[in-house]
Amino acid sequence: YASKRGGKMRCTWFSAAFDQSREQLKEMDDELRAGLANREFRLNYQPLVDSRTRKVVAVECLLRWERADGKRVGPNIFIPVAEESGLINAIGLWVLRQACCDALEWDDITLSVNISAAQLRNPEFPIQLGHILEETGFDPERLELEITETCLVLDPVVAERSLAVIRGFGVKISLDDFGTGYASIGFLRQFRFEKLKLDRSLVVQAGEDEGSRAMMLSSITVARAMKMGVTAEGVETQDQADMVRAAGCDQIQGWLYFKALPAEEIAQHLGKPVGTATPTEQRDSKVA
Ligand code: C2E
Ligand code: MG
Ligand code: MG
Ligand code: MG
Repeated sequence: YASKRGGKMRCTWFSAAFDQSREQLKEMDDELRAGLANREFRLNYQPLVDSRTRKVVAVECLLRWERADGKRVGPNIFIPVAEESGLINAIGLWVLRQACCDALEWDDITLSVNISAAQLRNPEFPIQLGHILEETGFDPERLELEITETCLVLDPVVAERSLAVIRGFGVKISLDDFGTGYASIGFLRQFRFEKLKLDRSLVVQAGEDEGSRAMMLSSITVARAMKMGVTAEGVETQDQADMVRAAGCDQIQGWLYFKALPAEEIAQHLGKPVGTATPTEQRDSKVA
């Protein structure tokens, strides 16, 4: 009898916690909706450098939310909330339009924009993207959309159809956060991507143990065979940069070189190499 009562109490407690978290989600979603209307969102851009020349070849657009009360909330917190409610569709269109406008100023480099599964699942998305490209006049060949495995796993048929339309514009697709999911290497052969982005966790691990390094190297081998470019994300140390360069990554993204910067600060970094060359790089550039 006592344990039955205990069980019931636990149940009540669980559902109360559940209601509370639902309420919190709803509250944040309302705040996000208001934030979009009140222009509380901002875009930062993290430069990606060529692993050989160390010149900026691309920027990844990263969304920032500074609420009216001055509090900053990270995208890892608020994007999942916006995905759940569908608000990510409106936010995502704002991001694309703003990023294409900002990037008009930066000659020759690629603009990378993150796209959620919920956006790709929306059958209207390719048409909306087409409109944004037309309105802004941004060259589709310079645009790259970053998607994750989840985008394709949830609804492969719709996703593939949309990706075909998007590629028809000349836009490139890259597979983000590689090494964090389940499908990994097999997944690379199943779908076509122009670029592979190795997640920070894989880069860190590859610097620490043989198994992870082998995993990274074989992913790069498969990517190469499939004519994909490879970017290493989250590179924070010179050792990591040397390692991923030797492993065959074409592009390096990480705090070693750049954090995400406001749009106004990008132009000044274009066209010149960042940081000082290591002995390895000096030797390599003489060969090249
Ligand atoms: P992501 O697409 O994998 O972006 C890279 C994340 O790694 C960014 O975090 C970036 O600031 C961080 N990062 C870059 N270099 C380093 C480094 O050297 N060390 C460390 N520790 N971190 C580094 P951020 O800006 O917090 O974004 C987190 C995630 O939120 C992104 O991961 C992306 O999945 C999502 N996100 C950001 N902006 C957007 C957006 O506009 N739309 C959508 N759908 N998702 C977005
Ligand atoms: Mg990304
Ligand atoms: Mg990533
Ligand atoms: Mg990530």
